[in-house]
Amino acid sequence: MQNFTFQNTTKIVFGRDTEEEVGQYTAEHGSKVLLHYGGGSIKKYGTYDKVVESLKKAGVDYVELGGVEPNPKLSLVKEGIKLAREENVDFILAVGGGSVIDSAKAISVGYFYDGDVWDFFTREAEITEALPIGVVLTIPAAGSESSGASVVTKMDGMYKRDIGSDLIRPQFAIMNPEITFTLPNYQTACGAVDIMAHIMERYFTNTENVELTDRLSESALKTIIKNVPEVLKNNEDYAARAEVMWTGTIAHNNLLGTGREEDWSSHGIEHELSGIYDVAHGAGLAVVFPAWMEYVYQHDLERFAQFAVRVWDVDPDFKDLEWTARQGIKKTREFFKSIGMPVTLEGLDVPADRLEEMAEKATENGPIGNFVKLDTEDVLNIYKSALK
Ligand code: NAP
Ligand code: FE
Repeated sequence: MQNFTFQNTTKIVFGRDTEEEVGQYTAEHGSKVLLHYGGGSIKKYGTYDKVVESLKKAGVDYVELGGVEPNPKLSLVKEGIKLAREENVDFILAVGGGSVIDSAKAISVGYFYDGDVWDFFTREAEITEALPIGVVLTIPAAGSESSGASVVTKMDGMYKRDIGSDLIRPQFAIMNPEITFTLPNYQTACGAVDIMAHIMERYFTNTENVELTDRLSESALKTIIKNVPEVLKNNEDYAARAEVMWTGTIAHNNLLGTGREEDWSSHGIEHELSGIYDVAHGAGLAVVFPAWMEYVYQHDLERFAQFAVRVWDVDPDFKDLEWTARQGIKKTREFFKSIGMPVTLEGLDVPADRLEEMAEKATENGPIGNFVKLDTEDVLNIYKSALK
């Protein structure tokens, strides 16, 4: 195990009706709030009304900015910064999924910065200050409700890039599994893949002696594998929705990365897809992750065999470690298919004509990944292997 520091300061408020307490938690941090949300699901399903009522009851003033698109865009972030300054807000409340939360985080760092907020995403500027933010989560997926990351797309050049800092970790995240009852199955499945990807990006590591985090990760993966099909069958299964929602947070609150080197190349390879083609991040990962696994598994057959046996209950062939390892990849891909995800670029409606460009952009700062370092040609090979 490697040395590590672990501190996750986000207060989690979990369970039925908890969104009705948002005013009281918000009032602990601010008196004038930017209420940030997406394309309208919160208005359609009643969460907006409950949040606004709770803010009013707690005496919290607010201005609102909706319209965050999936794969949030820099242009709306800039609008948010302008509005937040004009209105002198002292807190941002994100009501939505990863896209809304990430947009709120970008606004929170841009608020104090005189230059272009994109400078943080290109590493030309360093994050030293951010407005505090809070979250009412409506979809378990990105884990952004307690992560220190934000991913935003700049349409000029189609760059999807991230920032990371403890300063943008939300102060609180309110998580009511009932709010997720209204998710379309496709979004639930995309979320499930992203959750699994966050665990697997950490699981495939070269660090040795990481037994506790291996076992925790395997349990988290098994929880998703068991509960997501149940949720897809019965959208209002509270118990299963609750398991999925809590696992989504645990998958990305850094606990499962403690003491180990993490990989993150599949996310980098996927961000080029959702950056250029605006596909759902989870659907892109369902295509990229198994293709990445096929490309690198021989680097550590034992780890992949362990994954197959412990996560997918594969009966191991002790004389054929490679066969055992491959079964885990096969099962992963089959599971993604079974929950309605595409597993090829063709299935994702991504054509073959910009693969070189994507591979170059994914590696513009040098090789990516840690489990196996991937250069431009490796990334291109992975895209090509995922075509059909
Ligand atoms: P999302 O993009 O926030 O939302 C996806 C869709 O689900 C939206 O159309 C939204 O509609 C809808 N939706 C959300 N909640 C709903 C509900 N309760 N009922 C019905 N529909 C609902 O999804 P996400 O997967 O959470 O976020 C994806 C983004 O997060 C990507 O850009 C990805 O790269 C990023 N990401 C960030 C991190 C991080 O740590 N920061 C990690 C991984 C991924 P409305 O817009 O109408 O609400
Ligand atoms: Fe992700």
